[in-house]
Amino acid sequence: MLPEWVLQKAAGEMLEYGTSGQSVMEMSHRSKEYQAVFDSCESLLREVMNIPDNYKVLFLQGGASSQFAMIPLNLMNKSGKADYVTTGQWSKKAMAEAKRYGTVNEVASSADKTFSYIPKLDKSMFDPQADYVHITLNNTIYGTKYSELPDTGNVPLVADISSCVLSEPLDVSKFGLLYAGAQKNMGPAGLTVVIIREDLIGNARDITPVMFNYQTHADNGSMYNTPPTYAIYICGLVLEWIKTQIGGLEKMKEINVKKASLLYDFLDSSTLFKGTVEKDSRSLMNIPFVTGDEELDKKFVAESKAAGFVNLKGHRSVGGMRASIYNAMPIEGVEKLVEFMKKFEAENL
Ligand SMILES: *Cc1c(COP(=O)(O)O)cnc(C)c1O
Repeated sequence: MLPEWVLQKAAGEMLEYGTSGQSVMEMSHRSKEYQAVFDSCESLLREVMNIPDNYKVLFLQGGASSQFAMIPLNLMNKSGKADYVTTGQWSKKAMAEAKRYGTVNEVASSADKTFSYIPKLDKSMFDPQADYVHITLNNTIYGTKYSELPDTGNVPLVADISSCVLSEPLDVSKFGLLYAGAQKNMGPAGLTVVIIREDLIGNARDITPVMFNYQTHADNGSMYNTPPTYAIYICGLVLEWIKTQIGGLEKMKEINVKKASLLYDFLDSSTLFKGTVEKDSRSLMNIPFVTGDEELDKKFVAESKAAGFVNLKGHRSVGGMRASIYNAMPIEGVEKLVEFMKKFEAENL
């Protein structure tokens, strides 16, 4: 979802942005007008996320999936080793890609219990020689989230934050690199945001394609080639919404906790439905649940769809149901869902 406030604003500016005589979509990325749109998006992101000055923000393309390769190409440059924690499909894909470029050590995995928890991580588990440690902070498909960050000592922590970015405050200084496909919580598809500590830029391997080298984009203000101009504009509006309409990430978190608690509290008290994730690993954004009976799950998915609920079917790899309640989902959306689940429960017990 995108906030209606954002869509209304974009609709109002669709034909002409300000007095520029053109739509943002029609602007040259090298024009003065567009540079202002771009700069505003970056400065809002820095402000809202409280990004320290020694970090670069890069606006890229290729999705979070391209980062699975860019990270090892740019960062596996000293020992050629990296530590990965496996907590679901996305972290598995990230690790598989890194294996093409160096020695990958799987530090821990929650595959033994269908990724229903975040493994306990201790500093002694990490290789002090590793070039970085990779985690997936929020696991979109399985609905888990780290409740605390692992202590990796001096080894840079790299995190995929695609499905939790902007959902609550995050201490950027604890990370070497953060990355997110924008389409879950920042804006439309087509934009990938990378936040990288400056000292990690500039040591990519020789074979790295120019477009896959962070230095290329850092040196050119993300304008080495044409960036996803319209997606960046919408991302700027989403950030403006968080800042002016919500009141920042602390407030955003408050709202997200309230939304998620509504659903978790119901799941914990329900006799028909149950959540699939261990309590201390629960995501604020993605909430998977089941009835315990596949036929009943199917019936729920069909009936909820007919009632106007969108995308409640669980990911094809896990089945069941999953409610994704990203930032833009209003609390009323979750209230309506719980109401519907209560009704379904009464009719099917
Ligand atoms: C959606 C998602 C991805 C994939 O993002 P793309 O931009 O489609 O490549 C990767 N990681 C996480 C955690 C995701 O939620």
